[in-house]
Amino acid sequence: MTGVVRTVLGDIAPDALGPTDYHEHLFQVTPLLPGEDLDDEDASRAEAAALLASGASAMVEATPTGLGRRPQAVARISRDTGLHVVHTTGLHRHAHYPGPHQPTELSRSDLLSRFRADLLVGMDDTAVRAGLLKAGVGYWSADEVERTVLDAVGQLAAETGAPVMVHLEHGSAAHKVLDLLDESGCPPDRVALAHVDRNPDPGLHLELAARGAYLGYDGAARHQRWPDSMLLDCLAEVVAGGGGRRLLLGGDVARRSRYVSYGGMPGLAYLFDRFVPRVRARVGDEATDQILTENPARWLSWEPGPAPRHRPEKGSVVHDQHRG
Ligand SMILES: [Zn+2]
Repeated sequence: MTGVVRTVLGDIAPDALGPTDYHEHLFQVTPLLPGEDLDDEDASRAEAAALLASGASAMVEATPTGLGRRPQAVARISRDTGLHVVHTTGLHRHAHYPGPHQPTELSRSDLLSRFRADLLVGMDDTAVRAGLLKAGVGYWSADEVERTVLDAVGQLAAETGAPVMVHLEHGSAAHKVLDLLDESGCPPDRVALAHVDRNPDPGLHLELAARGAYLGYDGAARHQRWPDSMLLDCLAEVVAGGGGRRLLLGGDVARRSRYVSYGGMPGLAYLFDRFVPRVRARVGDEATDQILTENPARWLSWEPGPAPRHRPEKGSVVHDQHRG
C-alpha cells in the first residue's frame, strides 16, 4: 500500500491504522437531528475511549463543514485517547443546511479552494487537516447544490488523490453518484458509499464493488427498521460473491441519545462488542480482518501534495469552530 493516511495528528503509514470504524461522529450539530447535538468534549472523549477499548484503533470523523465540527477538540481527543481519527471535509446533503448564510451558497470555485485548504492546510483556521472529502445526495435526488458539491469533491479527489465518502439517502442512487464523480475525474475506487446497507441488496452491492466502490455498512443496532441479521446476510452474500475487498464497517451512531457517555445507549462500542463478533462467526477471521483493517487502510491512503500558498503560520491555531 502506497501513500499515507492523513489523521488529525498528522500522516501515518496505512498499516499503522489498524481496525477502523469507517463512519462515526464525535461532534455534530444539525437541524435534522434536534435535541441530538454532540457538543460536549468530555463526553465525546469518553465515547472515543469506549470505542478504542472495544477493539477499534481508528475511526473516521464523518462530520463535514458547517455542522458543528470541532477539529481542535477532535485532535485533543485523539491525542488523549490514542485513537487515530481521520477527519472529513466537504458538505453533507443539502437538507442539513436550511436558511441563509450556509456554506451551500458558496460557488464551485469557493468550495474547491475551501476543501483544498481543509485537506492541505487546516480546517476552520486551525492546523488540523482533513483526510477525506464528503458529499451527500437525497433519496433518488441530487439538486443543483448537491451536484456542485459532488463535482467539486470529484475534481479535488482527482487532483489530490484524496479519498471520498458520499452519503446515500436510504442507499439510493449509488450508480448515479459514481457516474457523476467519475465525470469529474474521480474513479469509483476512491469512493465509499455510506449507508449502502439501507438498501441491503447483495446483487447491487456486488455490481458496485465490481466498479471498485467501497460499500459502507453502518446500519447495525437499528432494529426498529431492520434486524442486524439482515445486514449479516447481505454482507455474507457480498463476501461469498467476491466483494469482501470492498466492504467497510462503521456505526454512524450520530445521536447523543445513543451515546453511553451522553446518558444513552448502545454507544459506539456496540459495533465491535456486538456486531463484529457475529461478522467473524459468519464469514471467518480472514474476511473480517480484511473488512476491518485492510480495506479502510487502502481506501484512506493517498499522497497529499504540498500545501498551497497562504498557509497560516504554524502555531496560529485558533479557537474551535462552533456552528453559528
Ligand atoms: Zn454519519
